[in-house]
This record gives sequence, C-alpha cells and structure tokens, in this order.
Amino acid sequence: MIEYKEVKISRILNPTSIDLGEYVINPFMGCEYSCLYCYVKSNKVISKRPGEWGTYVDIRINAPELLEKEIASKKPKCVLLGSTTDCFQPAEKKYEVTKKILEILNKRKVYYHILTRSPAIAEYADLLKQGFCKKIYFTINNVSAELKNKLELKSPSYESRFEAINKMLDENIGVVPYFSPIIPWLSDFKDIFSLFPKSDSIEFEGLNMNLININDLISEITSIRPDLQAKYERLLKDKAFYDAFWQAVKKDIIREAIKAKRNYNIYIHNFGKYFTNIYAPPKI
Ligand code: SF4
Repeated sequence: MIEYKEVKISRILNPTSIDLGEYVINPFMGCEYSCLYCYVKSNKVISKRPGEWGTYVDIRINAPELLEKEIASKKPKCVLLGSTTDCFQPAEKKYEVTKKILEILNKRKVYYHILTRSPAIAEYADLLKQGFCKKIYFTINNVSAELKNKLELKSPSYESRFEAINKMLDENIGVVPYFSPIIPWLSDFKDIFSLFPKSDSIEFEGLNMNLININDLISEITSIRPDLQAKYERLLKDKAFYDAFWQAVKKDIIREAIKAKRNYNIYIHNFGKYFTNIYAPPKI
C-alpha cells in the first residue's frame, strides 16, 4: 500500500554535480518502484523522512508554480529530471506534475535530460518532440523474472520498457537504453543491441558494490542462486578478482557492440568504500 501525500516545497531547482544539467528537478519525493539497489534511499535528506522507501510518494504539488518563478531568477540553460525519483511513476497519471513541468520547460526554452524506467513517458511524446528534450536515459535490464521480483518487484516489466524505448526512437526522440545495474553473472546482455535497432548507442553500468545495503542485495540474489555466494563474497573482498570480473564483462559488452556495429559506454564502479554514480560516462 502506497501512501500518497500532497506537499508544498520551497524550491524546485536544486543545484547538482551530475553532469547532465545545472539543476535537478524532482516532482516527487519517494518512488513506488522501490528498487532494492536504489541509492536514493541513503540520501541524507530523504533518509530523514519517516516511512520506508518505496511505501510513500510525496507529490510536490506547487512545483510548476515554483518552476516558473525560479526560471525567471536562475535562468537555467539545461536541467535534469528524475535524479531522486521516477517522474513518470504511477502518481504522475493522476497529478500530472511532470507534465506541467515539461510544458513550462518547453515554453521557457530550457533544455532537459530525463532519467526514467517508466514506459508512461512515451505518452508525453508530443512534449518531448518540441526540441528541448536532449536525451532520455531509460533504465533497462535483463534478468530472470524471479530475480527481477526480488530486486525491483514493482517496476514496469522489461518488455513494456523495451516497447516504449522503440516507440520513442521511431518518433525520433533521443532515448539511450541504459542497462543498469549489471548484476554479476545474472544480467544477460547477449544480443541486447538487436532489441533497439534505432538507438545510436547503449550505455551500461555495473552493480555498485559500495551500496550501503549491498549485503541485503546479495542475500536476495543468492537466495535464488546459492551457488554464487562464494563468488559474491570474493567480489566484495578481493580487488584483483573484482577488477578481472568487470574487465571480462567489458570485453563481453564490447564484443556485442562490435557484432552489432553500434556505440556503447560502460561505467564500472571502482572497488572500494566510496560511492559514485554517474550518467553519460566517458567512452572506454
Ligand atoms: S526507479 Fe529509480 S528512484 Fe525509483 S526506486 Fe528505482 S532506482 Fe530508486
């Protein structure tokens, strides 16, 4: 059961270090997709909000009104939508906060990038085709249904996401399939390029083994694949093993890209205790 609450905020354009905009816009606080590997729930501000991540969505009902005012004073050239929530999650259907935000950004000629995993974004094609949507990074993956249910039970099916990506690509909307996170030994990216014949490239990101709740994640994975327990433990502790594993993954991806004659980017988190998460990583 999700708790939906309309809230008023005091600021909608927040500065960011993510290299996809000068400010981020998050129309909601909370995300009902509730991915187990979500890094947002460890965010300092968000972790102070009572309620377990994935059980609430605060709808920032005055976000469009604030955006009009803040564009006038901050004059952004490019912003990023959806750094700590999914802007197209089910709440959007009722509240249409993201829709109003896109209308304002188009009207005020502000460029934007979007991060999402929701096929509902394709319903906004008319807004996305007005020349201001630079790129949509659309998260995909390919693990068994059993594992998906463990890791992201409430997120849209992979099939519906693939369909939405191709529909938008057919309409010349700039979508980048973003394969993330690669779950060691279990994400299958064989022939992945053939699923998106019109995409210029696919980007890949390895599982971040520095996540605060990585042990919970490994427990879920190994509950259905106990044979991988020792390998996951080694990935956590053994840098040489970790580096060799991800090098092999990179080689496999590159082989797929060459076979498909397509572009790619691969981002692998460094071994260690620190956390990084970036989009649009440098080409390898
Ligand atoms: S869709 Fe994104 S913001 Fe929502 S729970 Fe999953 S990773 Fe977190």
